[in-house]
Amino acid sequence: MKRIMTIVGARPQFVKAATLSREFARVGIEEKIIHTGQHFDANMSEVFFTEMEIPKPSYQLDINGVGHGAMTGRMLEGIETILLNEKPDAVLVYGDTNSTLAGALAAAKLHIPVVHVEAGLRSFTMQMPEEINRILTDRISTVLFCPTDTALNNLAAERFDKLPVTIIKNGDVMQDAALFYAQKAAEKATVMKQLPVQQFALATVHRQENTDDPSKLKEIVEGLNVLHRELPVVLPLHPRTRNILNQSGLKVDFITIDPVGYFDMISLLQHCDLVITDSGGVQKEAFFFGKHCITLREQTEWVELVEQGYNRLAGSDPELLMSAYRHFMQHRSDFTVDLYGKGKAAAMAVEWINAW
Ligand code: UDP
Repeated sequence: MKRIMTIVGARPQFVKAATLSREFARVGIEEKIIHTGQHFDANMSEVFFTEMEIPKPSYQLDINGVGHGAMTGRMLEGIETILLNEKPDAVLVYGDTNSTLAGALAAAKLHIPVVHVEAGLRSFTMQMPEEINRILTDRISTVLFCPTDTALNNLAAERFDKLPVTIIKNGDVMQDAALFYAQKAAEKATVMKQLPVQQFALATVHRQENTDDPSKLKEIVEGLNVLHRELPVVLPLHPRTRNILNQSGLKVDFITIDPVGYFDMISLLQHCDLVITDSGGVQKEAFFFGKHCITLREQTEWVELVEQGYNRLAGSDPELLMSAYRHFMQHRSDFTVDLYGKGKAAAMAVEWINAW
């Protein structure tokens, strides 16, 4: 029987891991989970394990609240110690966080094969910590599961065909999660009863390039304040954004709430009129739930959404935000197009791993 060690640490990874964990259990692969502790608040971590029935982590490293270097370094050390004891057949990492890079690097140095789910994505800006994490993780992985053709093309452009690596397009595991939990969310979510509005734009803001740049953050808050006068804006506040906003003295007119669990997030996505976000995952979830999206970034890894008219990039510019809003209020799109595999990505990855 194969033994897989999965490394997670941040909110988007819990959502992704839920989909493969269920498949591992189905086919009888033993999986153990290391939680690095990068996200630790109950509403950023525990709620996902409970709602999505993710197996309890075998190891909790509790590494957070320090800079990128210290965080990655401490994770590397902690994960290496566990891998030396456990000797898994492969290490599985997701996405592009410091936990992803630390897990991949610890395993690669011990010659343990690394499986990277959500590989091949690029934003082509090395200013993003996520871009650094993705490129390095892809380069030291053994198996790369790519969500899109764009991801395959990015790897081809970097000559990954010359490397001893297996590249497979399996689709996007976040669509698996969205489809699998939509019904449960409809039954269990409570957030809509607590909102003072029923027609609204759902917003999320947490990318370092926005939160740590005072002029960008100011513009984003201004833009959302302006939009809020026409369409109420509801924004579940990521802890980093909450801290920085509190210190900034910026006047926020729109509705902020605490971060919500996955069921409530799905409910917000189902009921909103529009999504505004700098999140990677939420851009796709807007599409999964048939909503247009305005992305508060200059570029996106999910270019197919922009090319096919589902998503518009506004950066932090309030005018671009408002013109994209007006555009989308007058347009309907066909959201049935298959861009992300329609919920079969996790099964495909796990069946491949099982036959490996
Ligand atoms: N999410 C959530 N509650 C929130 C905000 C986000 O459940 O209050 C979910 C969201 O639906 C998606 C995941 O968290 O599944 C995305 O995480 P995040 O935006 O933090 O990371 P990114 O995708 O940008 O890496």
